[in-house]
Amino acid sequence: MPQPIAFSGNPLDRDERHRRDAAFLAKSLQDDATRVLPFWKLAPLVRDGAEKRLAWATPAILDGHAGPDPVFLGIGDGRAHFAVDLSAHADPLVEFGWAGAASFPDLRATVGLLPPSEGGIAAQARHIVDWHARHGFCPGCGERTRPKDGGWSRTCTACGAEHFPRTDPVVIMLVTDGDRCLLGRQKGWPVPMFSALAGFVEAGETIEEAVRREVREEAGVEVRAIRYVASQPWPFPASLMIGCEAEAASREIAIDANELEAADWFTRDEVRAAFAAPTGRLGVPPPLAIAHHLLRGWVEA
Ligand SMILES: [Zn+2]
Repeated sequence: MPQPIAFSGNPLDRDERHRRDAAFLAKSLQDDATRVLPFWKLAPLVRDGAEKRLAWATPAILDGHAGPDPVFLGIGDGRAHFAVDLSAHADPLVEFGWAGAASFPDLRATVGLLPPSEGGIAAQARHIVDWHARHGFCPGCGERTRPKDGGWSRTCTACGAEHFPRTDPVVIMLVTDGDRCLLGRQKGWPVPMFSALAGFVEAGETIEEAVRREVREEAGVEVRAIRYVASQPWPFPASLMIGCEAEAASREIAIDANELEAADWFTRDEVRAAFAAPTGRLGVPPPLAIAHHLLRGWVEA
């Protein structure tokens, strides 16, 4: 695939040995060379101006910080990298003197403007910061949990159970029938955008079984020859998009109106035209979405 997929390509070394090394982590948080990525309400700090970059701070911002512990992301350029959730602060831009130089924009709207490697770091950081914000209590006994291993697990203070951050797999599949592909649209999407069908992998299900079930449920179409193409971290809040292709084994569409507003077959020429500009019948998903890459790969094959 020619263009990098948004949120992929995180260059940090996540070596687990560093997470378990409490002395290393403590020393890193005293080191001015260490980089700390502030988050506020699940948005990363990004430099203002024409060239968007993540706005890294130093561990000095942690002095007097009363919120959650920083999470260790990994090593890059010989330096430790952390993320910290400043959501407990009313206005960190003013409090830390960043106003006018940086801001906390929505990550989905901003990732396309960041260097791709920084989008990968932001995905890792948003996913783990959000996990900590929502896992303060043990699902087993209801008591408080505490972060461990640089923030890559939480341990219950009462029953000792250890909890790990989850990643939720989602299948997203481009179903083709020779020179046509099957696309659907959900209510509320901008008109005339259609995209590849998608859905969560359920408990006890393979990727192939999830692809087959989702296409049958959403569009009433049977598929075969399911093939993995590429994947994408999707930290809203904790998904992994698993991009697949499949061949149609039936052609008649019967949509599930709870899932889709419409589904239809589109020819390669129609999709190619929509990449240039939305047509009366079809707009393609934005480059942010892995569906964009699946479609582009298909029309350019
Ligand atoms: Zn517990």
